[in-house]
Amino acid sequence: MNNFYFYNPTKIIFGKGMISRINREMNHDSKILLLYGLGSIKKNGIYQKVLNVLMDNHFKYVEFGGIEPNPDYVTCMKAVEFARQNDVDFVLAVGGGSVIDAAKFAAISYFCEDSDPWQVITQKAVPPPKALPIGCVVTAPGTGSQMNNALILSRREVKQKVAFSHILLYPKFSVLEPDFTFSLTPYQTALGIVDAYVHVLEQYITYPTYSLLQDRQAEAILSTLIDVGRPVLERPDQYDLRSTIMWCSSQALNGALSRGTAVDWATHEIGHLLTTLFDIPHAQTLALVLGGVYRSQFANKLEKLSQYGRRVWHLDGSDVEAAQRSIDSTEAYFESLGIKTRFSSLGLHAADVVREVRGHLEKSDFKNLGERKNIDVETVCAILASRG
Ligand code: ZN
Repeated sequence: MNNFYFYNPTKIIFGKGMISRINREMNHDSKILLLYGLGSIKKNGIYQKVLNVLMDNHFKYVEFGGIEPNPDYVTCMKAVEFARQNDVDFVLAVGGGSVIDAAKFAAISYFCEDSDPWQVITQKAVPPPKALPIGCVVTAPGTGSQMNNALILSRREVKQKVAFSHILLYPKFSVLEPDFTFSLTPYQTALGIVDAYVHVLEQYITYPTYSLLQDRQAEAILSTLIDVGRPVLERPDQYDLRSTIMWCSSQALNGALSRGTAVDWATHEIGHLLTTLFDIPHAQTLALVLGGVYRSQFANKLEKLSQYGRRVWHLDGSDVEAAQRSIDSTEAYFESLGIKTRFSSLGLHAADVVREVRGHLEKSDFKNLGERKNIDVETVCAILASRG
């Protein structure tokens, strides 16, 4: 096991009716920025529930709606300006990963008085020494952003999607009310499950670091997601299934799995390119790319792939057979949830995708991907070419 720090201060407030508890988590003198997405919370009643708590407890608040999926820099900067004009001192995100990531961006950018926030999140400028505190009311849990210190932001005008993390960006609390996810469509639900599943795999399928507990924790989350994935699509208002997915998604990316281990975010990095260039939903890109990365890096990942195959998919045979079939089983699982694993299923030609991606990467400062940093531009193109 490698050396590590582990720090996660986010308080989880889990369960039915627990939204009322946010009253105890925010300073009553605070002026709250209520941040949300494109308005689904107004249709499913969650907006009113949050407002009731704020009004019953005489909190001062202002609201900013309209955060889009894959939040854009331009929209988020409007939120920052709005926050500054209104002199807020707390950000309450009500939504899924996009809204939470926008809240994190606003929280740190609020104090970027002498520096450009884009320079900060692209790590070309020093972050400010403080950020606004953040709270989350989670309506779609797949990204795991509710329990970590990372954000992902798109800047469509320059075709970039970047990840940034900072110790100041852990939410102070996150409310996980499973019934707040009942109104997600089967497609949205399946995307969330695939996202969480791939988060676990990317911290697990690398090379052995003798992190025995972390391996078993990863396998537990993967097995649990397999257990509940199909059933929740058939019974979307089954509380315990929704509870399980919410907690799996949060555990999948709260930092515990990757402590002391090697990680490989290549599937996410390549996936971000597909979202940027083709506007494909985040988790859909992961399902398209993952099997290509694993077949491309098969020899490097053989030990962990075969372990995954045996322990999670109960496969037998040689190591090579178990490893190969583990990739097939993963793709079949994604397909069983309705998430496609081939470009042709989405009406795209792999050759067109490769041409666009290559052109984009040749103009960017691409850094090699994978736990061994051996996935270069040519390998990315070969992976995508194999996904036709
Ligand atoms: Zn993700």
